[in-house]
Amino acid sequence: MADCLFCSIIEGKISSNKVYEDEWCVAFRDINPKAPTHVLIVPRKHIPTTNDLTAEDAELVGRLFLAAKKIAADEGVAQAGYRTLFNCNAAAGQAVFHIHLHLLGGRELGWPPG
Ligand code: AMP
Ligand code: ZN
Repeated sequence: MADCLFCSIIEGKISSNKVYEDEWCVAFRDINPKAPTHVLIVPRKHIPTTNDLTAEDAELVGRLFLAAKKIAADEGVAQAGYRTLFNCNAAAGQAVFHIHLHLLGGRELGWPPG
């Protein structure tokens, strides 16, 4: 997808601090981290928001969470605990319209989120 920041990162046109990749996704460190571990797990497929998911994407979504599980273990936050989330549209503050699973850990995470 032209003019998509995360498609450009996946294609290697824009650099990132990559921590994991497989046939389904690429994961890299958030440029403005909100926790000691803040990784974005991004599907290779361009999907603007979670509202655009279809049944065809069921495996893709599962694969994102399996990647998060592995990265959390690699980052050493699995046992202490971590958070995974998608922001969708304006009320949640979505800024990049290519879905991405946030993985946050390494500190106490307040609940509910602001
Ligand atoms: P969201 O608000 O859920 O759309 O999250 C977008 C996230 O992308 C934010 O946490 C940004 O800090 C992050 N971000 C924006 N540009 C980049 C970039 N070039 N590399 C890594 N993370 C980025
Ligand atoms: Zn994209």
